[in-house]
This record gives sequence, structure tokens and C-alpha cells, in this order.
Amino acid sequence: MSDCIFCKIAQKEIPSNIVYEDDTTIAFRDVEPQAPTHVLVIPKKHVKSVMELSDKELAAHILTEVIPKIAKDEGIAEKGFRVVANVGEDGGQTVPHLHFHILGGRSMQWPPG
Ligand code: 5GP
Ligand code: ZN
Repeated sequence: MSDCIFCKIAQKEIPSNIVYEDDTTIAFRDVEPQAPTHVLVIPKKHVKSVMELSDKELAAHILTEVIPKIAKDEGIAEKGFRVVANVGEDGGQTVPHLHFHILGGRSMQWPPG
């Protein structure tokens, strides 16, 4: 997707503050952080949302390996954190490239707005 901002971040055409990277996945700090830790985890390949995440190996890698590692590295694993994937219009997704928000470092509220 040539006009996708997160594809450009994954390809390093747009600079970002990268906290994790491997062959399939990259994670970087949100430009408008909503918590002391606010990291976005994305597949390097263009996947629109959770609805199009058919690659089970990639899904498992992100959820069982990458997110827990980042939480530990950021020092938020012990007290807890939130993982959010907004999907589509009602979900509040503004960038149409799958991303998991990792939010931590403060107490979260529920329900969300
Ligand atoms: P969404 O609303 O789609 O769930 O989340 C998109 C997130 O991407 C927002 O939290 C927004 O601050 C972040 N974002 C949008 N553009 C950029 C960018 O160019 N760089 C970074 N690091 N984050 C971005
Ligand atoms: Zn993309």
C-alpha cells in the first residue's frame, strides 16, 4: 500500500521511534501518547485490521511473543497494561493498517469513551 502511513513507517520511509523490530513485526512509540507508555505494534506487511488478520502464525507471534516482550522491556508487565486494536469506523480506527496499542504506566479507566 504505497499511500499507507504505517507501511511507510515499517519501510523506514517515515521516521519513528522504534522500540522493537523483527522480520515480520515492528513497534514504535505513538506520536500522540495517551499514557506514559504508548507503543503501536504492527505487522510489516499491509493488513487492514483484525478482520483481515488471516495469518495465524503472525497473529500468535504478535500476541504471545512481541507484546509480552515489549511490556516487560517497558516495565509495565508487573502492574498491568492495556492492549487495544481499534477496528473500522465505529471502533475508532484512524489508520487503516492493523495496529495494537500497548498503553501502560498509569491506571486505565473503563468503559472507554
Ligand atoms: P487508531 O486511532 O487508528 O487506533 O490509532 C492510530 C494511532 O496512530 C493514533 O494513536 C495516532 O496518534 C498514531 N499515529 C498516527 N500517525 C502517526 C505517525 O505518523 N507516527 C506515529 N508514531 N504514530 C502515529
Ligand atoms: Zn499499510
